[in-house]
Amino acid sequence: METCVFCKIIAGEIPSAKVYEDEEIVVFKDIAPIAKIHLLAVPKEHYKTLAELTDARAGVLARALSTIGRLAPSLGLEGGYRLVVNQGEAAGQTVPHLHIHILGGEPLAWG
Ligand code: 5GP
Ligand code: ZN
Repeated sequence: METCVFCKIIAGEIPSAKVYEDEEIVVFKDIAPIAKIHLLAVPKEHYKTLAELTDARAGVLARALSTIGRLAPSLGLEGGYRLVVNQGEAAGQTVPHLHIHILGGEPLAWG
């Protein structure tokens, strides 16, 4: 989608600090981190929410979770981390391209 900031990052049209990329996903640093380590894992295909999942998209997300689990220790997340997927504006979703927040690098409060 030509107006989507994450599509532009994926296309290389705007810069990002990428820590991982394959054919299906890219992982880069959030521009406004809310934890010591704050990464975004983003499927390369543009869609907004889980309501739009297909079997193929679900497969990409499953592999993304597996990749996050495999990479976590090398990204400074060996002490634990949190995954967040904001769904819709009421939840705080500001970028209409599905993404998984990866938060960690320090103890995280809960509740
Ligand atoms: P949301 O609020 O949609 O769940 O998360 C969107 C995230 O994308 C926010 O944490 C925001 O800081 C991040 N973000 C927005 N624009 C950019 C950008 O141009 N580059 C990077 N690296 N992150 C961005
Ligand atoms: Zn997009």
